[in-house]
Amino acid sequence: MTKTTATGKVTRAFGNLLHVAFEGDIRQGEVAMIDLEGISLKAEVIEIVGDEVKLQVFEDTRGVKNGTYVEFSTLLLEAELGPGLLTSIFDGLQNPLENIANATGLFLTRGTYLPALDYKRHWDYTPDAKVGDELRRGETLGHTMEGRFKHLIMVPFSHMGKYKITWMAKAGSYPIDTVIAKAVDQNGQEHGFTMVQKWPVKQALQEGEKTRVEEVLDTGLRSLDTQFPIMKGGTFCSPGPFGAGKTVLQHHLSKYSSVDIVIVVACGERAGEVVEVLRTFPHLTDPHTNEPLMTRTVIICNTSSMPVSAREASIYMGATIAEYYRQMGLNILLLADSTSRWAQAMREMSGRLEEIPGEEAFPAYLGSRIASFYERSGVLKLPNGKTGSLTIGGTVSPAGGNFEEPVTQSTLAVVGAFHGLSRARSDARRYPAIDPLISWSKYVEMVGEKLDEKLKGWGHLVKLGEKILIEGDDIGKRMEVVGEEGISISDMVIHLKAELYDFAYLQQNAFDKEDAYCPIDRQVPLFKLIGTIFERDFKFEDHDSARSYFLELQNEIKNMNFMPFGSEQYHTAYNRIEKKIHKQASSS
Ligand code: ADP
Ligand code: MG
Repeated sequence: MTKTTATGKVTRAFGNLLHVAFEGDIRQGEVAMIDLEGISLKAEVIEIVGDEVKLQVFEDTRGVKNGTYVEFSTLLLEAELGPGLLTSIFDGLQNPLENIANATGLFLTRGTYLPALDYKRHWDYTPDAKVGDELRRGETLGHTMEGRFKHLIMVPFSHMGKYKITWMAKAGSYPIDTVIAKAVDQNGQEHGFTMVQKWPVKQALQEGEKTRVEEVLDTGLRSLDTQFPIMKGGTFCSPGPFGAGKTVLQHHLSKYSSVDIVIVVACGERAGEVVEVLRTFPHLTDPHTNEPLMTRTVIICNTSSMPVSAREASIYMGATIAEYYRQMGLNILLLADSTSRWAQAMREMSGRLEEIPGEEAFPAYLGSRIASFYERSGVLKLPNGKTGSLTIGGTVSPAGGNFEEPVTQSTLAVVGAFHGLSRARSDARRYPAIDPLISWSKYVEMVGEKLDEKLKGWGHLVKLGEKILIEGDDIGKRMEVVGEEGISISDMVIHLKAELYDFAYLQQNAFDKEDAYCPIDRQVPLFKLIGTIFERDFKFEDHDSARSYFLELQNEIKNMNFMPFGSEQYHTAYNRIEKKIHKQASSS
């Protein structure tokens, strides 16, 4: 079992790719430390050729030269998992950044690695298993309350086979590295379990069975929930040009989505963006519980000034922490902004490795890496019968907003929903700038069946909405050429319906107290009104009266979105709008 650590010496340095001549046994993905006179830099084995290994260093390699000493750790890049992860802010190597960030907004000096979890803090531990129980990895030994969540202490995932419990700690308050249970394996060897375990980050880990997605994710964004919905355990992506609102969209999702825990991976586009996350998140309140938002959040961040390899590590670190909490039967949302930064890291490293490049110099394995990241999502039926889910959403920032490039295309091939942000919409300040003419969701039908209970014919109305948007856009373009008088009044009405749907429903003001968050229960009565408008025939004498009627109607509906839901004011407005529609429309 025990093996002596391998050592080596740098023979060539190429940015943060090092060639190292080594002696001993090493393996793919193993972590190595580069010894720079007192500073040691973390690195990872990415290719082994004979007695030479290529290492990707996670930090600035200034000062590394031929002959620099390297020590291999035998360990893979791992996440440290246990109570206390929530509220944390980490970098891609799981260094806790919170205190430093709060003070200065600066990042760690290189070569500093701090323990991810607090080993001094005591946690109230309650045993759940008992002496004599036979458990496998992932099964529950006991638990502690991490805020409002029951944080399960499980048989560590590094332990295969069956373990028969021989001793259990009493309920009490302990630091996380206290042995809280002892057990013997099938060979009679004894093991001590603590509240901490380590998981390798690059591979998916889970115990249980992946099952069908079942529940709708309520994001409080009308455009998503109604027209391009997401299911818990599903995947989605939001590509868009710079400044179109990808980050604002992800922040909305992290605040309002109906999940237990949110993991935010911020691989910033701009350096200031990440600092912004660090400054704002700790002050936000969870609208569902009124507790600080951070009590259900883990943030992993990297700025563009950090080496590219650290961004890659953040993506995997985020996925691993998310899987760990899913294993406790919780619903998790993992958000990655932006996955293009991660893809660029792959491209840079692939170039240095002199691999045969694929499209736009991205490596040939780009698509499979992206696929395996999103495949870590899903609903998991746990051995104890409960279920946990992991929903994954990533932004993509293609240069010039061109969705034909490889990262967008590889992502579109694997996700369940596509929320495409367009420059035209953000320039017109039609926020969220999710373009309904290019976006899609594979969950529309499933969500339609679920929401049918709340509004009969929901799925049908969503399809009708799509049709009206497409036709309305088409008619609008024709109108630009031939003028209003050149099209029939009935065509103009379709165009006006599409405009109303966009203006009063799909668009939503992220900065208004009431409008920012519109949960599905508030969407239902509103979509009912919109559905009536979709389905009814409207008769007008001329183009002008059609236009002025719809303009008035859409303004009245829009104004209602700024009123407190269920308030008297809201009901009065609702009834007035309903009457206005019935008065003008003849049923069809
Ligand atoms: P990206 O991440 O795509 O580069 P951001 O999310 O940073 O873009 O958005 C850029 C700017 O656009 C924001 O600072 C904000 O002013 C505006 N914006 C984006 N989304 C919205 C929204 N939903 N409502 C109002 N303004 C928005
Ligand atoms: Mg952004």
